[in-house]
Parts: sequence; structure tokens; C-alpha cells
Amino acid sequence: MKDSNCIFCKIANGKIPSTTLYEDEDFRVILDLGPAARGHALLLPKEHFADLFELDEKTASKAMVTAKRMAARMKAALGADGFNLVQNNGEAAGQTVFHFHMHLIPRYKDDHAGISWKPGNTTPEEMAEVKRLVENQ
Ligand code: AMP
Ligand code: ZN
Repeated sequence: MKDSNCIFCKIANGKIPSTTLYEDEDFRVILDLGPAARGHALLLPKEHFADLFELDEKTASKAMVTAKRMAARMKAALGADGFNLVQNNGEAAGQTVFHFHMHLIPRYKDDHAGISWKPGNTTPEEMAEVKRLVENQ
């Protein structure tokens, strides 16, 4: 299904032009217009899924295989020193476009992408509680 109000549906299906690095029947990989680092790309399914929770498992599997192949090609082609796969779900997690996408981000020594978090604290009690909640879901 496509969503006629969704910009990534339009880009993925070629209705809006993009700089496309790869395309097959299920996905399009495009360059991000606001790159965190040189070569930052987005993997977009051609069907509309708002986020990871809507994605079917077959498309999820194919997305990871495609991302893995693209990461290898991009790292070699661009001489990257490392690579981040990033995937945001929900406003609280930084998602701004509500069509599932994976960020493919080549990383370079001394780049300024700054994809990191400040390590927090936990306790054995909290860890046990989290384990219990997830296992019982
Ligand atoms: P997220 O915050 O995970 O939802 O990521 C949305 C990403 O889409 C951001 O990195 C934006 O720079 C990128 N973006 C938004 N609109 C476009 C567009 N028309 N073409 C390419 N990238 C886009
Ligand atoms: Zn869409």
C-alpha cells in the first residue's frame, strides 16, 4: 500500500526525483538531503509502513540484507572508516518522517556526525524488572 500524503512513498516510487544509489522491486536507496556525514543515505521500502512496528517480517528481513550489501559497497566506494545503521521509530526516538527508513551513514575518523549518547546508570533491581517485563510480554 502507498500513502498519497507520504513524501517517502513518492520518492521511493519515483514520483519525486531523488539521488538514487540503488533500486529494486522492494526498495530505493537515496542520498539524504541533510547528511550527518558524506554519503549518508536512506533505505526506503516502496510500500508504506509508518515504522518498524508496522513493517512485515519479510520486508524487514530483505531490508537488513539490502542495508548490509549497501553498507559494504558504500564503505568501499567512499573510503569510510566505519558505518552506522540508524533506524528511528516514534517522535520520542527522533523519527520525523513517518515512513519506515533506515539511515546508512558512512563514518570517517574525525567526522562530526556525533551519533552517541551519554551512558546512564542502572541497578540490578531495574535490570531484573526490565527482564521480567519483557520476558512476560
Ligand atoms: P528521521 O529523523 O529518522 O525520520 O529521518 C528523516 C531523514 O529524512 C532526515 O535525515 C532528513 O534529512 C531526511 N529527509 C527528509 N526529507 C528528505 C528528502 N526529500 N530527501 C532526502 N532526505 C530527506
Ligand atoms: Zn510512505
